[in-house]
Amino acid sequence: MTVQTAPPVGEESGNRLPKATAKARKQREAAARKEILAPVSGMLTVASLLVALASVCSVVPFLLIVAACRELLESPVDTDRVWWLFGAAVIVLVVRALLQVVALTWSHAVDAGYQLTLRRLLAAKLTRVPLGWFGERSSGEVKGYLRDDVDALHFLVAHARLDFIGAAVVPLVTLGYLFTVDWRLTLVLMIPLIAYFVLFGKIMDRDGRDRLAVYTRWERRLSAATVEFVDGIQVVRAFGQAGKAHKEFQDAVEGQVTAAHRMKTPIIRVQAASDIVVMPVFVMLVVVLGGLAGVGLGWVDPLDLLPFLLVGLGIGSSLLGLGYGSQALRAGGAAALRLHELLQTPELDITETPAGVQTGVVRFEGVEFAYRTGHDVLRGIDVELTPGTITALVGPSGSGKSTLAKLLPRFYDVGAGRITIDGRDIREFTSEELYRTVGFVFQDVRLIRGSIRENLLLARPDADDAAIERATRAAQIHDRILALPRGYDSEIGVDATLSGGEAQRLSIARALLADTPVLVLDEATAFADPESEAAVQDALAALVSGRTVLVIAHRLHTITGVDRILVLDNGTLVEQGTHARLRAAGGLYQQLWQINEDALGALALVEETR
Ligand code: ADP
Repeated sequence: MTVQTAPPVGEESGNRLPKATAKARKQREAAARKEILAPVSGMLTVASLLVALASVCSVVPFLLIVAACRELLESPVDTDRVWWLFGAAVIVLVVRALLQVVALTWSHAVDAGYQLTLRRLLAAKLTRVPLGWFGERSSGEVKGYLRDDVDALHFLVAHARLDFIGAAVVPLVTLGYLFTVDWRLTLVLMIPLIAYFVLFGKIMDRDGRDRLAVYTRWERRLSAATVEFVDGIQVVRAFGQAGKAHKEFQDAVEGQVTAAHRMKTPIIRVQAASDIVVMPVFVMLVVVLGGLAGVGLGWVDPLDLLPFLLVGLGIGSSLLGLGYGSQALRAGGAAALRLHELLQTPELDITETPAGVQTGVVRFEGVEFAYRTGHDVLRGIDVELTPGTITALVGPSGSGKSTLAKLLPRFYDVGAGRITIDGRDIREFTSEELYRTVGFVFQDVRLIRGSIRENLLLARPDADDAAIERATRAAQIHDRILALPRGYDSEIGVDATLSGGEAQRLSIARALLADTPVLVLDEATAFADPESEAAVQDALAALVSGRTVLVIAHRLHTITGVDRILVLDNGTLVEQGTHARLRAAGGLYQQLWQINEDALGALALVEETR
């Protein structure tokens, strides 16, 4: 478990995105939405047509009632026609309700199938992206893709588009009809509607959109921080880092509140004004005043005011729906873009030709590597690791030790050159074959939610109890497991709360059980928990025998006896040899050794003076 600090959210100061960037983003969003919805777009068009028809049907009864009212004011009254008109209005209303139900049922059915397909697609994708992809993201962020974004798409597929179409068709049909009744009065009616659009446009101007984007990012950061905080609380506390994790959570809460405030304050003011201009009372006032003036001037027949008052007043509320619908469409668009980007992430390419590993000779040939962020981290690495030997990687912090080690289990793929095991490029291994060949124990121990046994069996699902016990005994964790309330069936986080060191010994047992010919270790696993340090060291010793072992060393005195030491400096291999030879050479290793000695001396002094 690592305590991850989320990337800076940026733009908190309210800086605008450059216009071109905002436009490009909008275009990318539209393209991503189109592409990701492509599998359902045909079916959604059918649902949209049904909703459009239902919306027309929601206006028609008013028109029939207006016609009936006009008839009632005639003399003599044609009662049959009045009844017929009212009857027709009721029938159209029923048809509208039916159409609406069919459209919504249809869109939900389409969405249910689509969500399943999409989640499967994403899950399959996650099994193919490089492992390093997860290292760069917190579990909260990954949850964001699988849950929040897919949910946002549900709203887009099942509701937003239909709501938007409904909200757009009603005012269009109504205005079209009113235009045929009296075009001048229709223009008067449009004054509050246009005012609404102008005000609404103000809410969603570039500043507003930027503030919404900042708010959305804070919201995601909060969601990630919450998951990290809750998920990692035991491990984080075991490492004495509760304050730090809590701080990240607290910062995220505060940031989200500030961003919400910044986003909503201007919106609330403008929204209040825009809501007022489309309120039925306000629209009625405008229509009555305009209508009376028209009647006074002899432009308008007093009877023609009737449809405006009956039908026109409802336009405002449907416009409100249009506003909310467009916001939902935008949120869905952003989610679609993120999912689209995830689906475009390059995958580990595998030319599956399983062959089986015989010995486990590992060779790095001209290996170069750079993270997405740019500068070269590793350059020209040529090295061979032979079975039955331990090779230690040393070097100043940031020199590339962890990166080099992580290339072997393919957390990342080399940028140039290749890594082979028994002469075969590791990119040709199936992922299963690779994990049967290369075991690793890194600092950030990941345990899955489940029992201790399930966690161990991840390495070798067919292992029997005897094999499991051999591994846990060698990793010095067997007795601790037996002391748990339900032994091997205790659930991590429920009745099995492990300290950092214990979790690491469990992961060492897992690596032992996997019994892989090649092993990559981070020696810092021994650091986490001073009480179990000796136990972890013994466990590691059991793990390495007879294998090809690469160990990232942080404390030089623990690796003086290894077969070979590789010294990395700024991404290149500057020295290699045994401890004695490298010390005699008087290069970087000798300097590092001196620093290490001085540090140990200082530590001993502190102990003495206590
Ligand atoms: P070491 O293990 O020797 O301390 P690392 O392999 O962790 O060194 O890091 C080597 C360089 O790569 C450093 O400059 C570090 O900042 C950078 N780096 C490490 N991990 C990442 C990552 N996930 N993304 C971008 N840069 C990284």
